[in-house]
Amino acid sequence: MPSGQHAVEDELQALIAEEGPIPISRFMAMANAAYYSDHDPFGAKGDFITAPEVSQMFGELIGLVLTDAWRRAGGDAAYVELGPGRGTLAADALRAMETAGLEPQVHFVETSTFLRQSQAELMPNAIWHDTTATLPTDVPLMIVANEFFDAMPVEQYVKTMMGWRELMIRHDDIDGFATVPGQESAENKIPQDLLDAHTASVFERSSASRGLMRSLCRRLATQGGMLIVIDYGYFDRAAGDTLQAVHAHAYADPFVKPGRSDLTAHVDFSALKRVAQSIRGLKVRGPIEQGDWLVAIGIDLRADQLTRANPERAAELAAARMRLIHPEQMGSLFKVLGVSGAGWPAVPGL
Ligand code: SAH
Repeated sequence: MPSGQHAVEDELQALIAEEGPIPISRFMAMANAAYYSDHDPFGAKGDFITAPEVSQMFGELIGLVLTDAWRRAGGDAAYVELGPGRGTLAADALRAMETAGLEPQVHFVETSTFLRQSQAELMPNAIWHDTTATLPTDVPLMIVANEFFDAMPVEQYVKTMMGWRELMIRHDDIDGFATVPGQESAENKIPQDLLDAHTASVFERSSASRGLMRSLCRRLATQGGMLIVIDYGYFDRAAGDTLQAVHAHAYADPFVKPGRSDLTAHVDFSALKRVAQSIRGLKVRGPIEQGDWLVAIGIDLRADQLTRANPERAAELAAARMRLIHPEQMGSLFKVLGVSGAGWPAVPGL
């Protein structure tokens, strides 16, 4: 058992013994910090595969989109990635930008010291940050977040016979970690149209995601730059529980063995979009499906170029292209939202 997992299980048990049941968001934040601290979750041997790990085309196309927007904006800009994983997307994007003669300074927001090491192997000159608060304030930011917002903690609320309550996590030796409705009324956290939902309905929201979105959008409004959010999620708010745990490419119980599996929730793109639209002077585009975006920004052309240059890779490139754009693979579930700030064009393809 990795040490992080053992430690976080003990820590969560002790916390609950001391304070009573804790919000799901707190459980999720601690479990994920432990999970990422000592796992390489990506690839065939890991727990899941992300788009940049499927194919170099994904990061390269993002690099070309940034190149195009930056050229039109003019002046200086920095590349920022939130949760860069192994650093693959950044390496592919920056190689594409370099071909076009652009070499921005690179900033990574990453809490896992373990993953920082793999990122440093690919991108030794990056500057690392624990949070977005320390990102530079004097230059436009080209911010990319692929599968980052899904790892942000969510709160969940349940409609009980006594009204809406926040779902909390309790612990005992027989059931282990399990959910329980909180003691206090949570009606004031629930959208008006859900107040009368039937008993046992669940409503989920991520205050952490909305807070992060707000601070990034404020940066874009004052500093300029662009934000591209790519993640799995839904266009409109959906009532219901989307919290999931993935371990070794299979779904697991989110509350069993915290720190062993990746805890994520579907991203509510309508909530992120509303935050961006509430800040003056931003161009907000999308969300659209990932497949449509990749086609709009030229995945077919890039696949053809690579195939002509490497005929022996034809089958692999065709399969990767399908995996990224096909509606039954990553094409529809994943969405793309773009926000541009002062003096920057709208995100290309959206
Ligand atoms: N973008 C990468 C990795 C996605 S996994 C890819 O597409 O392959 C999520 C990434 O976010 C990991 O690098 C993880 O360590 C990081 N992460 C998760 N929660 C974080 C947080 N609260 N602050 C900073 N980084 C975080």
